[in-house]
Formats: sequence, structure tokens, C-alpha cells
Amino acid sequence: MPQNLSYLPNSPYLSIIMPAYNDAEALQDFLPQVFEFTATLRAPIIPALINSNASLSASTKTTLASCEIIIVDDGSHDNLLEVVSTLIPSRPHNTELVLVRLSRNFGKEPALSAGLAKAEGDVVAMIDADGQHPLSVLGQMLSMIEQSDIDMVAGIQANRPHESKLAKTLKRSFYHFIQDRQRYEIRPNAGDFRVMNRKVVQALRSLPERQRFMKGLYAWVGFNTVYLPFTADNRGTGESKFNFGSLFELALVGITSFSQKPLRLISRMGFIVSALAFLYGLYIVIETLLFGSDVAGWATVAAGIMFSTGIQLVCIGVIGEYVGRLYEEVKQRPLYLIDETIHSGSSHSGSDR
Ligand code: UDP
Ligand code: MG
Repeated sequence: MPQNLSYLPNSPYLSIIMPAYNDAEALQDFLPQVFEFTATLRAPIIPALINSNASLSASTKTTLASCEIIIVDDGSHDNLLEVVSTLIPSRPHNTELVLVRLSRNFGKEPALSAGLAKAEGDVVAMIDADGQHPLSVLGQMLSMIEQSDIDMVAGIQANRPHESKLAKTLKRSFYHFIQDRQRYEIRPNAGDFRVMNRKVVQALRSLPERQRFMKGLYAWVGFNTVYLPFTADNRGTGESKFNFGSLFELALVGITSFSQKPLRLISRMGFIVSALAFLYGLYIVIETLLFGSDVAGWATVAAGIMFSTGIQLVCIGVIGEYVGRLYEEVKQRPLYLIDETIHSGSSHSGSDR
């Protein structure tokens, strides 16, 4: 690990980022479990972590880890504020709680970025607020990242029994399509449940783009990532916020921000259609010269025009997707806006932006 990374003496060992949107009910059960988890968490001595050429043995874990839990309220309409405020006093001594309230619902990806911007821990974990990511797996991830050369541990959701065959096929095709295997690999099924060190956090923070496809960004920044298969728990309460439409939108963000294949494909398609049109024209000329046949009927002309118009519309649509994303980028609007930040440690509460 490079020496120029600043490990602030007062910074917590672990930051746990939890994006939450209308998940107060789930959080009511899950947050006390997270408190139980952090209450007994032991951390390696930080200088050992910096000078980490050797793996840390369990015996070096002498100190109780100081932790911060950052809940990013992504514009929830439920009683999340009330639930969190009620639970704050029951937090363990080594754990601070920060509630970052965004000004409206921005989506999970911006919410994660808001959490990353706030996180001060030497190690940063991301976990869903609905309790689907098992804390036992988080424990395993934390012990893995303490090893010298691992920068990020990402959970791979091994089996998704409730996912339909169609959804599985679509996801597989999507990951196949955006892959750029020579340079970096966007692993299928590796989601946001992961643990990373400061190097990775700083790299992710340095990416200014508005179109944030986090699964791609984790892969793009590189660093040594290991993958840990896990099985997600069932959702206790509430339902998934991601439906087919929002997943499709996320897939479009992923494709347009990580791949120029569609643009290349449409130029190839243009060549192919032009070549076919040329060959067909040649055939008509030859046929007329040799056999003096009648000029082809209107049906052929109409079908030809409709075919080429359809293809042109598809091409304009593809280009439009990219132009639209460019438009989003050049506007340079912030990724999210914070309404208020509530810290458990002090009575401080105020607007950050
Ligand atoms: N989430 C969020 N903003 C959104 C949608 C979801 O912060 O616009 C949070 C949500 O509260 C949960 C996590 O992201 O903690 C994962 O969402 P969900 O459980 O709906 O997704 P799934 O588990 O089905 O992938
Ligand atoms: Mg979930």
C-alpha cells in the first residue's frame, strides 16, 4: 500500500454505507443487527495495515474497531428518520451513526456515491439497508481485506432462485455485451455488496461522471479485487425497488458509459445495407439488360424504403442515447443534493451543500 495515503489518526477503522429508500421497516430490524456486529468488531492496528506487506494475523487484532454507519436516505417517503433517530441511542460505544438525507430520490447509484463521499474509514463497506446482505459474509469480507494485497472484496450473488430464465438470459447477454476483457472485467452478479480500502474509495471518488454504473466503475478503477460468492437472504419486508424498467434504464447507462459497440455496430450495419442495396441494384440492371424485364413493382420499392427507414430510425435512436447521456454530463449538475446530515455523536445537523 503506498505511503502517501493519509490515514487520519481520528478516522474510524470501518465505514458501513447503507443506501435506503423506503426501507424503514426493514431497517428497524436490520440496524440493531448491524449494531451487534460492530459492537464486537476488532480491528488490526492501523500502522500494520499501512505497512501491509505481510498478512495480519488474528493476534494483531487487539483494538475494538471504531466504526461509522452511514445511512443515506435516498428521499424516502416513509418514517426512516423517526426509525433511525429512535435507534441512535442504542448504538454501541465504538459506533457512530451518520444519516445523510438527500433532497429527493436520486437512485441507488448516486446514494452510494453520497455515502462514499462521506466515508472516512480506512476500510469501507457497502451493504443494502433491507438486510438481504448477510453480516456473516461482511465479516468474512473484512477478514479478507486485511490481507496484504487485497484492495477490494466483492460479493457475488451465486444463486438467485427467484429470477426468471428470461431475466437470467438478458443479464448474461448484457454482461457479455459490455465486457472489455482485455482491460478490465465487469463480473456478472458482482453487485454493490463489497468492502474496499482507501485506495479504491479515493479512486471511485475521483470519477466525475454523472452517469454512474457502479458495477462498471468498480471494475474500471482496477486494483486487486477478489470475489466471494454468497447467497442473499430473502427480503423480510417491503419489495425490491428495481423492476424491469429501472433495470433496463440501468443497463442503458451501463452500455452507453462503458461501450461504444452500438455505435460501431450501426456503422457496420450501414455498410451491409448499402452493399445489399448496391447488389440488388446491379441485379436489376443486369436483369433488364439481359432479359428486358419490366421495372420492378411498387411493392419492392415500398418494402425497400420501409426497411431502410426503419434501420435509419434505429441508428438515430442509438446515437440519440449517446447524445442524451452527453447532455447529462455537460450540464455538470451535482450527482445528488444533500438536504441535511445528522450525526449521532453531536447534535450537529445541517445542510452540507
Ligand atoms: N435503494 C436506494 N435508492 C433507490 C432504490 C433502492 O437507496 O432508488 C436502496 C434500497 O433501500 C436498498 C438497496 O438500495 O437498501 C437495494 O435495493 P432493493 O432491495 O430494492 O434492490 P434488490 O435487492 O432487489 O437488488
Ligand atoms: Mg434488496
